[in-house]
Amino acid sequence: HIPLLRGPVPLTHLLLRHFVRSGDRVVDATCGNGNDTLLLAELVGPTGKVWGFDIQREAVDGTARKLAAQGFEERVTLVAAGHETMAGQVEAGLSAVVFNLGYLPGGDRSVITRPETTGAALEQALGLLAPGGIVALTIYPGHRGGDAERRLVEEWAGQLPAPLFHAWRMGQTNVTADAPYVICVQKGA
Ligand code: SAM
Repeated sequence: HIPLLRGPVPLTHLLLRHFVRSGDRVVDATCGNGNDTLLLAELVGPTGKVWGFDIQREAVDGTARKLAAQGFEERVTLVAAGHETMAGQVEAGLSAVVFNLGYLPGGDRSVITRPETTGAALEQALGLLAPGGIVALTIYPGHRGGDAERRLVEEWAGQLPAPLFHAWRMGQTNVTADAPYVICVQKGA
């Protein structure tokens, strides 16, 4: 079975598989349907710790069910609040913080991540990263409000001083200009 690089999610997962180790502390800033939370819980193992955030009860409950089905609930703390509150709720020394922006697939499309709260959460995430830790963002410029959020993230990532941070844009070239893509910021060691 060959994993296909179809859309941004497999690329993000490849980065997470590389950078997240057993025993690590990590954050899923947007649990949604729980797919990233599940991978993170698998990667950190029984001695690691995952914090997952979502403002929609439906997303938090669905993620909790997914984790319970794998027996991962003890290593994950789910928070039914915005990721802009993460600084007060998680321990520092994170090896990864994952943002999958936009709306919940299959859910209410009017509930989207927003530039002000995303920006606040990104600032907090940088402060919480361990040296070598990454913030991995999947950006969806295509929906209403998506372009403003893309501009916010690009501006934020573009002004980070190197080599304190290594900020990368990773996008597929043979797709439309508004296709989702990945920004990955690593804190220098
Ligand atoms: N990673 C998810 C998955 O694997 O299914 C998809 C995430 S979905 C694209 C975006 C999620 O962000 C939605 O579930 C939405 O409720 C959530 N969200 C919106 N604003 C938020 C905020 N301020 N803090 C945390 N989550 C938020």
